[in-house]
Amino acid sequence: MAEKSTQPSEGRSRIERLRFSFSDLGIDALVVSNLPDILYLCGFSGSAGLLLVEHSRSTLFTDSRYTFQARAEVSEARVSIVKHGPLAAVGSALRAMRGRTRVGYAASHLTVEQKKLLEGYSGGRVRWVPDGNVVAKLRCVKDAGELSRMKGAALAISEVFGTTLPLIRPGVTELDLAAEIEYAMRQQGASGPAFETIVASGPRTAWAHARPTAKPFSKNELVLIDCGAILHAYCSDLTRTVFLGRPPKKVRKMYQAVLDAQEAAKQAIRPGVKAGDVDRAARVALKLYGMAAFFTHSLGHGLGLEVHEMPRLGRGVGTLLQEGMVITVEPGVYIEGLGGIRIEDDVVVTANGAVDLTTASREFFEL
Ligand code: ZN
Ligand code: ZN
Repeated sequence: MAEKSTQPSEGRSRIERLRFSFSDLGIDALVVSNLPDILYLCGFSGSAGLLLVEHSRSTLFTDSRYTFQARAEVSEARVSIVKHGPLAAVGSALRAMRGRTRVGYAASHLTVEQKKLLEGYSGGRVRWVPDGNVVAKLRCVKDAGELSRMKGAALAISEVFGTTLPLIRPGVTELDLAAEIEYAMRQQGASGPAFETIVASGPRTAWAHARPTAKPFSKNELVLIDCGAILHAYCSDLTRTVFLGRPPKKVRKMYQAVLDAQEAAKQAIRPGVKAGDVDRAARVALKLYGMAAFFTHSLGHGLGLEVHEMPRLGRGVGTLLQEGMVITVEPGVYIEGLGGIRIEDDVVVTANGAVDLTTASREFFEL
């Protein structure tokens, strides 16, 4: 759950900072439809609503299921409880605005159908302008309050890994372990998993996003765990790979390659560096082991109220890293028939480089 205190305690409010981009975008108002964006801007954590940000005021439109919740949670915006749905209410608010209005919307979130309805309700007077992911760009740099929550979420998932590690033994199924991991998250105070927990074993570890199955672990195989917890609305994301028994030389070499790649990427992280250059640092390190071809996804992603946020760390991405961004660093190598190894940590970009938020050991555990 989010609390009112998701808002920064000092400085300009997030909505005020958002308004600074109105002139660049050439808009008079912005319709915010993505729920995590709404939570970020005004504190509302309900599952239905629209936020209309104008120059001089902001209004959260939601329905009567959320009357008390909105009253308790929302700051920085008026709350309007509507009878016929938030789209109709936003539409008539836009219709009431004087002159021809330019209104921003999130092209990646508002559906074609919702936009059509809004156009109808607003009487066709509005000129619609894609918002250029303006809220996502604000969200990618975390303030002090957010960073302390993210630290908490990262610490919780690291503890979960530590407490569930002894449960990994032959006979235990992937599903058993996934259930134990999610139970342990709740015990750590999490409101739930940030995404469906991944547990894979044996050759299935080569499937980068394997769903857990009823397959029991057996001796002499890899086990890959990728899990994240939501704590005080913020996500963590951690991957570790362990071996049941004594790993063969080739597997040991794979692990060392991934670990080196992760370290090289972390070393490359600092404000002003291109996200694509950090991705490349990991690939260069893997190349030394002849394993660059087995790294088949991008290096990482932004993390916050959602598990995948801006910026993306991938080949050729030109986004410049900024102080306060929280990103994952998760190189992996996947060899069909043999298995996969991935090591993932959450880091914050500081003036001095990357600082780990996740604290779980990166040792190659032999269980
Ligand atoms: Zn992950
Ligand atoms: Zn991730």
